[in-house]
Amino acid sequence: MSEEIEAVRDMVNRFMETEVVPVMEGYEQRREFPRELIRKAGAAGLYGAVFPESVGGSNMGYLAAAVIQEEMCRIDVRFASCNNQQGSTCPSCIYFGGTPEQIQKYVPNLLAGVTIGMMSLTESGGGSDAAGNMQTFARRDGDVYRISGQKMWASIANETDVGVLFAKTDRAAGAKGVSAFIVQPKKYPGWTAQPIETMGLSTALRTNVVYLDDFVVPVEDRLGEEGEGFKIIMRTLQPGRVGVAAKALGVARACFEDAVRYANERTLRGQPIGRFQMIQSDIAEMAVAIEASRALVYKAAIAMDESQPSNRLAAIAKYHASQTAKFCADKAVQIFGGYGLAKEYRVSWYRAYADMFFTGEGSANVQKILIAEDALGYKLADRHHGKTGLRDIRKDDVIAQLNATR
Ligand SMILES: Cc1cc2nc3c(=O)[nH]c(=O)nc-3n(C[C@H](O)[C@H](O)[C@H](O)COP(=O)(O)OP(=O)(O)OC[C@H]3O[C@@H](n4cnc5c(N)ncnc54)[C@H](O)[C@@H]3O)c2cc1C
Repeated sequence: MSEEIEAVRDMVNRFMETEVVPVMEGYEQRREFPRELIRKAGAAGLYGAVFPESVGGSNMGYLAAAVIQEEMCRIDVRFASCNNQQGSTCPSCIYFGGTPEQIQKYVPNLLAGVTIGMMSLTESGGGSDAAGNMQTFARRDGDVYRISGQKMWASIANETDVGVLFAKTDRAAGAKGVSAFIVQPKKYPGWTAQPIETMGLSTALRTNVVYLDDFVVPVEDRLGEEGEGFKIIMRTLQPGRVGVAAKALGVARACFEDAVRYANERTLRGQPIGRFQMIQSDIAEMAVAIEASRALVYKAAIAMDESQPSNRLAAIAKYHASQTAKFCADKAVQIFGGYGLAKEYRVSWYRAYADMFFTGEGSANVQKILIAEDALGYKLADRHHGKTGLRDIRKDDVIAQLNATR
C-alpha cells in the first residue's frame, strides 16, 4: 500500500472514531437519521474517492474507495450502510448516464452529503432478475413521466432528496424497456416510503418499500434515452460490487478483532479461552480467510483503477469477501458464547450485515454463475469491457470538458 492510501486509511479511522462512534448509538436508539453526520462525512471526502475534482470528488480511485469502505464498515457498518447511496450507486448512475448538466446539478451535492441519495432497482418479483420482472411503469404525459408501481428494499428512500429509480417505459421490450430517472420525492407528489422491519440492521438508516402512485418526474430528469436504464445500472453495479466486497471485508475484520479481544479476556477453567485449541482453530481460519479476501478486493480495485477488465475479478472478490464476512461473523458469535446474541456486543448485529452483503448487489449464487460461465467459456465476464458506450469515470472528466468548451 502506498503512503497516500495508508494516509487515507488513517484519516477514515480518525473520522469514524471521533465523529461517528461517540454519537451513532444515540441515533440508533432515537431511530433518527444521521443527516448531520452524513454531511460531515461528505465534507471529509469519504464519498467522492472515485469521482473527478470538478464534481466534488477527490479522484483518488477505486483502491482508495475500497479502503474507505473497509475501514468505515470495520468501525460502524450501520453508519457506513449509506455509502452506496452517497458515493456509489446513486451518483455513479447519474455520472454514467446523465448529461453534463445533470451531473453538475446533482453529483456534487450527493458527494458532499448535502443531499441524501438513493438507488431503487429491486422489486418484489426478484432482485436477481430485476429487469426481467420489473412491473413499475413510467407513462409519458407531456413534459413529465408519471410512475406507478412498487419498489422493494430501497435503502434510505424514506429520507432521500435526490435518488435514481428504474422503471419500464416499454413493457414488451424486456431489459431494453427499462429506463432510469432522477427522482426527487420531496419535490413531487406520488411517493410513499415505508421502512421495513429487519433483524439486526440499523434503526436509523432504514430500507423501504416504496409505493409509487403517478409519481411525477420531469422529462428533463430522465437519465439517458428511454430504454438505456439497464445499461446504466449494469455499468454502475460492477464497480459497486468491489465496494460491497470491501464492506464485507470490513465486517469480517471487525468480527475478527472482537473475537480475538474476547478470546483473550474471557477466562474459563482458569485460563483465557484463546488458549483452547478449538478457539485457536477458529481464529486461524478467520485470519486466513480475511487475508485472502483482502488480496482479492485490492486486486479488483487496482484493476479498475488501471481501467483493466475487472468484472470477473469483482465477482470473485465479492463472492469471497461476503463468504468470509458470514464465516467470521458466525465464528465470532460462537466465540462470544451466549453474549454473541446480546445487542450490546456488535458481533450480534454484524452478522446481519454479513448476510446483507452476501445477497445485495448480486447474490452469491449470481456471482458464482458469472465466475463459472466465464471459466467454462459460455459467457465471458469481461466481454463488455470498454464497449458499454458509457463514460469511464476514471478516464473522462466530463465536467472539465464541458467547462473547456464554454
Ligand atoms: C438490507 C437490504 C438493502 C437493500 N438495498 C437496496 C437498494 O438500496 N436498492 C435496490 O435496488 N435493492 C436493494 N436491495 C435488494 C438486493 O439487491 C436484493 O435483495 C438482491 O438483489 C437479491 O434479490 P432478492 O432478495 O429478491 O432475492 P432473489 O433474487 O429472489 O433470490 C433468492 C435466492 O435465489 C438465488 N438465485 C437467484 N438467481 C439464481 C440462479 N439463476 N441460480 C441459482 N440461484 C439463484 C439467490 O442467490 C438467492 O439465494 C437491498 C436488500 C437488502 C436485504
